[in-house]
Amino acid sequence: MARKFPDTSQWPRIQLLLRFSGVACILHGTLWGVYYATHAMLLLAVLLFTVMLSGLACLYLATQPTQRALPALAHCLLIATVIASLADSATADTSRSANLFLIPIGVAAFLLFRNSGIYLRWVFPCLCFAGLVFFANSPLTFSRLELLPSDISQFGHALNSITAMALTLGVLAIFRDEQKFKVELHSALARALARRELCTYLQPQVCAQGRVIGAEALLRWDRPGHGIQSPAEFIPVAEQSGLIHDIGLMVLEQACRQLSEWSEHRDAQHWKLSVNVSPLQLTSSTFVEEVREIVHKFNIPANRLRLEITESVFASDLVATVMKMEALRSDGISWSLDDFGTGFSSLALLRELPLDELKIDRSFIAGIESDKGKYELIRKIIEIAEILNISTVAEGVETEAQFDCLQAMGCTAFQGFYFGRPMIAAQFIGKYAAS
Ligand code: C2E
Ligand code: MG
Ligand code: MG
Repeated sequence: MARKFPDTSQWPRIQLLLRFSGVACILHGTLWGVYYATHAMLLLAVLLFTVMLSGLACLYLATQPTQRALPALAHCLLIATVIASLADSATADTSRSANLFLIPIGVAAFLLFRNSGIYLRWVFPCLCFAGLVFFANSPLTFSRLELLPSDISQFGHALNSITAMALTLGVLAIFRDEQKFKVELHSALARALARRELCTYLQPQVCAQGRVIGAEALLRWDRPGHGIQSPAEFIPVAEQSGLIHDIGLMVLEQACRQLSEWSEHRDAQHWKLSVNVSPLQLTSSTFVEEVREIVHKFNIPANRLRLEITESVFASDLVATVMKMEALRSDGISWSLDDFGTGFSSLALLRELPLDELKIDRSFIAGIESDKGKYELIRKIIEIAEILNISTVAEGVETEAQFDCLQAMGCTAFQGFYFGRPMIAAQFIGKYAAS
């Protein structure tokens, strides 16, 4: 199931892996490149310099790893190794050895892309291992290349074998640490749940006149020794480990307790509270009953509670999801589609879903005041939502100019740092009641 957050807990190890491979490629490419260049083997020198360039790309990527660049880099390394293997012809004394670098590349891809699609998860690593076997058994080579002198060829063979094995060991060591890190984070999160270190902050939502009409509950982890952690740092592990079900119920309990407190307050009794729901929570067969139980326990009007889902929720069993949404909607709970525009919603889907609100993602709001294209796009989204009888909330409003534009377009509600940052619940009512 598509997840909202990329698993950034892997980044430190990916960066280490990139630095490690980068240094190995640069050293290897430069040493051999210089040797070939000074011995008038220009074609080989050029090939080895491409290996050096791949190393530089690894080091650059280590400064800002992105999910998309990694497969591209893996393919570059594969192609560079295939070319180097074709250039590295076996002699009477030594067999080919450049193909051994396909082992660390295949192993790294196997571990790194284990949550990707079938091509990266299976086909790419298998290509690496098939290449390894092919070059070990095939005499195929660039026919015009000169052979290296026997002593240099033996030295090269030893160097390639040692480097390739050291790289493979390094890759395995890096990923063994990753498993340890995840297990530790998972147990810390389970302890945090039991010790009540997780709490919800509230961020105000306002109407077109700037009056507070409710809030969104945003989870924070006050982790001893680490300070306040944002959901991006721990939700991926909570989702992978299944803890998200218990965490989600705890957030709902805190939200319903909050609504119950607001119902006692004259200025706050009409405020709505939005709660984020992970796609995995909705796959649970007990979700509807559990939500009903909590709403009942706090005896709050269900129409003050709004559940936010992202478009990825519809990637699994659409019919079952819609049935759960409709069941809770019949109790009065409303549904909001979060981060609208970043997923894959179609107009047909929007028409069929029991939605009450669209939250326009903040990536569309940034720059709206100066970007005519963005302005027109949001205007159309708001128009379509109106036709479908769905209200709109603009997320991430940071400036007065953005607020003015969105107001003029007929957006229903607004949320963002311009109106207030997420804050602890105890401060919220004091700050916004009678606003
Ligand atoms: P979201 O639901 O889209 O929440 C909005 C995020 O945008 C929040 O980040 C909020 O602090 C941030 N934000 C609000 N206004 C502005 C602004 O004007 N400028 C900028 N740059 N950012 C703004 P936060 O609190 O880090 O939450 C990130 C995401 O974590 C949320 O995105 C939501 O998907 C998820 N999340 C938060 N709480 C929960 C939870 O209880 N359960 C689940 N499953 N996910 C949660
Ligand atoms: Mg949200
Ligand atoms: Mg959002």
